[in-house]
Amino acid sequence: MTERVQVAVIGGGIVGCSVLYWLTKLGWRDVLLLERRELTSGSTWHAAGNVTYFGHYSSITQLYVNSIKTYLQAEQDSGHSVGFHAAGSLRLATTGKELAAYRRLTPLYEQLGIEYRVVAPQEIGEIHPLLVTDGLFGAAYTPSDGHVDASGATHAMAIAARSHGARIKRQCPASHLKRDKGVWQIITPKGTISAEHVVLAASFWTRELARQLGLDLPLYALEHHEVVTERVPELAELDKEVPTVRDPYAPSNIRQEGDGYLCGVYESNPKFWAVEGIPTDFAEELLVPDLDRLEPHLLRVMKRLPSFGSAGIKAVNNGPICYTPDGCPLLGPVETHDGLWLASGFAIGIGTGGGSGEYLARWMSDGEPAYDLPIVYPSRFSSALTREHCLNLIKDTYVKGYILPSSD
Ligand SMILES: Cc1cc2nc3c(=O)[nH]c(=O)nc-3n(C[C@H](O)[C@H](O)[C@H](O)COP(=O)(O)OP(=O)(O)OC[C@H]3O[C@@H](n4cnc5c(N)ncnc54)[C@H](O)[C@@H]3O)c2cc1C
Repeated sequence: MTERVQVAVIGGGIVGCSVLYWLTKLGWRDVLLLERRELTSGSTWHAAGNVTYFGHYSSITQLYVNSIKTYLQAEQDSGHSVGFHAAGSLRLATTGKELAAYRRLTPLYEQLGIEYRVVAPQEIGEIHPLLVTDGLFGAAYTPSDGHVDASGATHAMAIAARSHGARIKRQCPASHLKRDKGVWQIITPKGTISAEHVVLAASFWTRELARQLGLDLPLYALEHHEVVTERVPELAELDKEVPTVRDPYAPSNIRQEGDGYLCGVYESNPKFWAVEGIPTDFAEELLVPDLDRLEPHLLRVMKRLPSFGSAGIKAVNNGPICYTPDGCPLLGPVETHDGLWLASGFAIGIGTGGGSGEYLARWMSDGEPAYDLPIVYPSRFSSALTREHCLNLIKDTYVKGYILPSSD
């Protein structure tokens, strides 16, 4: 039996649930989300949950800002906690050039109404008393961002969307997609769904779904580690939660998790995962960690934060993370396929997923984007991009994740 809906969203991570939530907020009722396994079972469940107002590319800062707003709104709409900790963030300047770039961003934050200050090393030490500030030029400080519970935020949006009429089918993978007589047919083990619009929000799996339609999307997965420490007495003794520190020197991000630290590392020799295809039985799994690859970077984190070095390691989580050649998502319509939309390729999907769901849902509602954001349009990549070139660009983007682009 074929079920008809207006919109089918494929993928129940934070991004798919955000699209679903925003569609219902904008009045769409006949919307259905299909999830292969359980909500969050892709990359979302193991994400550190960092959400910052500091956009790597200043042009997508609005997506970061709207993401935190979205999660807090979804918490109110659903009554389900998103676990937001407004501990703030410090983006360290290790060169004068970085500091100058941070200063240039001040008017943008004034315009967005977000508290943002460029602070001197002495003030960094007051904000984060455990950080070694020697050699720093300063930092960009956003006092009111922090981290969320990524699963909590996903479920809050899903609950709120459901209460506005959306439906969610779990354990229901979309196995085949085709366009027939002007509508999309989605084949699942539980029957066929026909939809006017399809949103592919299936992260690195989107590459495989899109390939059935003759599309070669530049999306691949890399391994990405986070290190969780045991209790750190110096942290536990402070009377406040310390902010997340993003350090171009390591490069890494490190925040407080309970009375310990949680550190995400961007190593210089990253490893791709499942380039030839995602294993069909891949479930809520972590990959084998490789501390040797992380070691030079962790040593740098220890120099900056000696209390990290003296703490025992509680866990090392290695999970797949989706990347595009420029690190920005593919968000918007596929110009060659009517009614097909992409919300995939998110490397910073917790940080930008909430705002991206809004951006896409408004575009679907209004027929045009609310504002120009070519840096996320799927059409920005040439179909002539070879796999080798694509993988090289992704690697470079991952490694240079904390180096500010010269312009955007
Ligand atoms: C260790 C680690 C730490 C991270 N920390 C952060 C962080 O602090 N902040 C941040 O912003 N980002 C972080 N990330 C990245 C973040 O996890 C991702 O950007 C985000 O989860 C992507 O969300 P998504 O919804 O696009 O994809 P996913 O969460 O992967 O969701 C895709 C969903 O699609 C489903 N699916 C796939 N194929 C099908 C199909 N055929 N039919 C139906 N459903 C299907 C999957 O089961 C899955 O649930 C981290 C990543 C890693 C690995």
